[in-house]
Order: sequence, then structure tokens, then C-alpha cells
Amino acid sequence: MKIGRTAGVTDTGRRRLRNEDAFICEPPLFAVADGMGGARAGEVAAGLAAAALEEAGSETRGAEGVAALIVEANKRIWERSLNDPRTTGMGTTVTAALVDAASGAVAIGHVGDSRAYLLRDETLEQLTTDHSLVAELVESGVLTPEEAERHPQRSAITRALGTEPTVEVDAFTMQAEPGDLFLVCSDGLSAMLSDEAVSSAIETADRDPERAAAALVAAANARGGEDNITVVLFEIVDDQAPAPSPVPEPVPEATVLPEAGELTEEDVQVEASESVAAEPEPSRHGAGAGGRVAALALIVSVLVVGLLVLYLAVR
Ligand code: MG
Repeated sequence: MKIGRTAGVTDTGRRRLRNEDAFICEPPLFAVADGMGGARAGEVAAGLAAAALEEAGSETRGAEGVAALIVEANKRIWERSLNDPRTTGMGTTVTAALVDAASGAVAIGHVGDSRAYLLRDETLEQLTTDHSLVAELVESGVLTPEEAERHPQRSAITRALGTEPTVEVDAFTMQAEPGDLFLVCSDGLSAMLSDEAVSSAIETADRDPERAAAALVAAANARGGEDNITVVLFEIVDDQAPAPSPVPEPVPEATVLPEAGELTEEDVQVEASESVAAEPEPSRHGAGAGGRVAALALIVSVLVVGLLVLYLAVR
């Protein structure tokens, strides 16, 4: 088995001014962090979590390895919040998946209400359990899942990264199969879309991670986009599957391409910078201010010499 196509997208949504989500889509590691806290503290917390996870090396393996990364991330966020008063009380969720492609083992570590899902065949299964008030109330039978979806406190989480010196991490390993599609997302997606809407958006996109990620963000925004929306998707394929085709670099719209196709990335960059540099020279075809002064001086000196000659001739 191996990791096939992947995609990661984050969007501010329709109601929030800033995006306090962060994500990692760097095979074999995939993660989403949803920050919280005043000012820009949520962004700081989610960014610190992502940075700590990105330090995962090849020696990081399995559920224990992922849990250790998350514990380290917790420590860094907690210490930063002690040393920087502007970030007091900041925290973040984190849901991370680390794939051991050869064996097909997917290790998942999780704190908060960002989620991991698996789409296998036609069934979407939520792999993580939210650490949230409403999830606990559903668990204890106080609320039905439907009531939880509409509950005013549905975004209150009971466990976060960085708000305490230590954190309890849910971590487990599951066995992937060729054809599996994994989704890691923030609550800006899962609170806006039902599981049925999520799986139908992915199927409509022919399970293409790039297209599916864009479709999921668009669908969450169409339902109101009340929070930042982050979606990370990756597929597991068998070893014989063709390598994912490289995504072509987007070409700046203003750039005019030469006709004979063979254009390197360097050419595009040169053309783009030339078109920018050409902008601030509107008076290229006329004399500049300095030219006008020189012309005036020439006319004056010709007049002076002329008058001098006339004066001498008259005398
Ligand atoms: Mg959120």
C-alpha cells in the first residue's frame, strides 16, 4: 500500500474575520488544529501545534509516536502562554494522522473537536470522538445526536491543547485498505454539514481529493460558513496504482504566453516581474522634468547670445 493523492485547504468562512485553523498535509503526516483564544492567540496556538507536529521524524511511529508529538505540542503552547501575557488562556484542538504506508497502519492522535473520518466503499465513519460538552451529554444519554447538532454550546470543548501543563491524548492505530479515503477536518466543516452531505460531496467529486476539498469548503460556506473551515484529505492506494499526476503551477493571469508552448517556470517569473516593473514609467515617450529644464536653458542661452551679437553689431 501507499499514500495516493492528497489535498489540504483552509478557508476563513463567512462570519469570522481571521482564520485560526492550521493544517499539515505533508505525507505521511496529516493534521488539523483549530485555535482558540482572544486577539490572535488562537492563531498562535494552532501554529505552535502544527510546528511541533512538523518536527516528526522518520523515527516517529504509531499511536505512541503521534501521542508523544501532541504532548510536546501541548507543552510548548502552555509554556508560551505563561511567558506571553497576550496569549494567556490560548488553546487549540489537534487531530493528526500518521501513515505507515508499507503496512497500511494509520495512527491517529486527537484532542478536542476536530475530527478524522474514513470513507471506505460507500460508508463514511467518524473515527474520533469529540472532546466536547455536547458529545459527553450524548454519551450520557442527556441529549440525542440531533439535539446536540443544534445545541447553543455545541462548540464548547472539554479538552484542548495548551490550556493545562499536561494533556490526555486519545491515540489509536487502524488498518487501512486500498481505496480508503481519510478526511481530517475542523468543526467549521462538521458543524455545517451532515455526514451524508460530506460523503455525497466527496462522491460527486469522484473521490478526487483536490476537487472534494474545494467542494466541501464551498458546501460549508453555502450552509453559512459560521466558522473557519479546514479540510485535509488523503487516499490509500495499492502499490500498483499510478503515481498522482503533478498539479501544474498556476500561471499569473496577466502574463501573455509565447505561442510555442515550451515555457519554463523561470520565464513566467521574469515576465511577471517585467510587467510589474513597466508600470511606474508612464512618461517613457516624453522628456522628463529634467529634459524640459535643459531645453529651456538652451533657448535662453541662444537668445542671450543673439542679443549680444545684435548689440555688438549695432554699436
Ligand atoms: Mg472551529
